[in-house]
Amino acid sequence: MDRNRKLSPHFTLGELIRSETAERKGIDNTPSQEIIPKLTRLCEEILEPVRENYGVPFRPNSGYRSVALNREIGGSPKSQHCLGEAVDIEIAGVSTYDLAKWIRENLDFDQLILECYHRGVTNSGWVHVSLKPEEADNRHIAMTYTNRTYIDGLVA
Ligand SMILES: [Zn+2]
Repeated sequence: MDRNRKLSPHFTLGELIRSETAERKGIDNTPSQEIIPKLTRLCEEILEPVRENYGVPFRPNSGYRSVALNREIGGSPKSQHCLGEAVDIEIAGVSTYDLAKWIRENLDFDQLILECYHRGVTNSGWVHVSLKPEEADNRHIAMTYTNRTYIDGLVA
């Protein structure tokens, strides 16, 4: 699998499947072929518009996760990361809360979760964004995850 393959102008396959945990623990995180178009959609519909809006290069924290990797990091068994439908992002110098709000107001999504953000700490936490394969299935659910609890809406 060519990790340098571009899925969109600014993002490569390698960036959507890389994982420090997988590398450190020798866990295979190679997606099956049917995952690739879904990762491409995340690049085209989420990552590229975010990059264009903020004008800052960034690499996603986490995209695809194999079941083994997801289990290792304690992810939800139903994680959309395992389906290639979710990506976690943060951008240096950009408020994670503002990033989540911008995505909610400007992009299509299934679930948008502001995770582990601490008010006033610009770069704390990250934003989890997912997309269903069929646009009509996107539920547009925005939530905040803080202190191990999910709250409706984006709350700083
Ligand atoms: Zn996530």
